[in-house]
Amino acid sequence: MTTTVEKKSFEATLSEIAAFVEKHIYPLEHTFLQDGFGAVLPQLKELRKKVKAKGLFVPQMSKDVGGMGLSNYEHGQVSEILARTPLGHYAFNCQAPDAGNMEVLHQYGTDLQQEHLLKPLIAGDIRSCFAMTEPEHAGSNPTIMSTVATKDGDDYIINGHKWFTTAFDGSSFTIVMAVTNPDAEVPHERASMIIVPSDAEGLVHVRRIKIVGEEGEDHHSHSEIKFVNCRVPQRNLLGVEGKGFAIAQQRLGPGRIHHCMRWIGICERSFDLMCERAATRELSPGVPLASRQTIQNWIAESRAEINASRLMVLEAAKKIDEEGSKAARQEISLIKFYVADVLMRVVDRSMQTHGALGITEDTLLSFWYRHERGARIYDGADEVHKSVVARQIMKGYGVKI
Ligand SMILES: Cc1cc2nc3c(=O)[nH]c(=O)nc-3n(C[C@H](O)[C@H](O)[C@H](O)COP(=O)(O)OP(=O)(O)OC[C@H]3O[C@@H](n4cnc5c(N)ncnc54)[C@H](O)[C@@H]3O)c2cc1C
Repeated sequence: MTTTVEKKSFEATLSEIAAFVEKHIYPLEHTFLQDGFGAVLPQLKELRKKVKAKGLFVPQMSKDVGGMGLSNYEHGQVSEILARTPLGHYAFNCQAPDAGNMEVLHQYGTDLQQEHLLKPLIAGDIRSCFAMTEPEHAGSNPTIMSTVATKDGDDYIINGHKWFTTAFDGSSFTIVMAVTNPDAEVPHERASMIIVPSDAEGLVHVRRIKIVGEEGEDHHSHSEIKFVNCRVPQRNLLGVEGKGFAIAQQRLGPGRIHHCMRWIGICERSFDLMCERAATRELSPGVPLASRQTIQNWIAESRAEINASRLMVLEAAKKIDEEGSKAARQEISLIKFYVADVLMRVVDRSMQTHGALGITEDTLLSFWYRHERGARIYDGADEVHKSVVARQIMKGYGVKI
């Protein structure tokens, strides 16, 4: 139970993070939008030192490994603030997919894996990525995959083709999902997570995939990769053999809270930009855009949708904290498609309010319009989550789908 004093101090922490983001990270956005992530990386590395010194680094991890020990409910609120800028999560070292990989290594990593991978990941010295999706198969049913890891002496030899491996570029290691137990009766028990150094022989970087026209770089990129007779020791297995999907499932619940709260942060900044533009852009002297009912509708509808989203996500976060991810399955699916949709609408309305300026790189809007379209696809496409929700609801009406 959170006491009033703890609540107050958490609120003070949120204000401290918001002030830091505004003062130190917002000023980097212009260079980032014009020249890319690499152009601001040196400054971001310096900022990370400041975040560490304040004790705010890796907020999502438990205190025993150097994090802030926040609940999902609390970290969700931090995530919203950090997301008001595309550089916030990176500065605080809680960006996807590293945040998820840290959790998995913390929970399932061997002593050796924790010493050599988790520690430097938490310190922000290295980055990582996660490779499950394959171009040849529907990612919506990942139990069907062609990537295989076969045993040879003390090693695994991995062969396969993956894409949309976010942040592979510049990463130190890749956690790959590969079939190790093809004969297991249950499809969900056929694959394992295996750690592969990203520069391993036989791990081929094919390309950074252009997303809505932009290739991106480093942490802000998605790669196509191939494993060609890639050999790693069997001690690189993460967790138990055949339990890759069980581990993936555990990481997805909290991960979806982080994503949804991140989207709410993006909505809030886009909303601010929309209101500022509506207040200052004049159609004629003394007649701002805000005087028009269409713009007023966009402002009111966006406000209502963002508020509703936040309540839904925090409710789901609370349920995960109190009852676990499995019990919160329906809430997690609800927020995943609902908030992604609100995100699309709010960013689009803000762009429209800005007119031609909205589609330039002079505001953050076009960056988000490009990068966040994927929100309706990754971590389960909208349609899959809707189906999960409807199936659970219809069970209560005696219909088994
Ligand atoms: C920005 C971004 C980052 C990503 N990062 C990673 C990463 O780091 N690692 C990784 O492994 N993967 C990553 N992915 C891949 C992602 O997990 C897959 O794209 C996702 O699982 C969907 O798989 P798919 O693209 O093969 O679409 P498919 O499974 O081919 O589905 C296509 C469409 O069919 C519809 N559909 C699918 N199933 C159903 C259903 N049951 N009912 C109704 N309609 C359905 C949906 O509209 C869906 O969009 C990323 C994707 C994006 C866009």
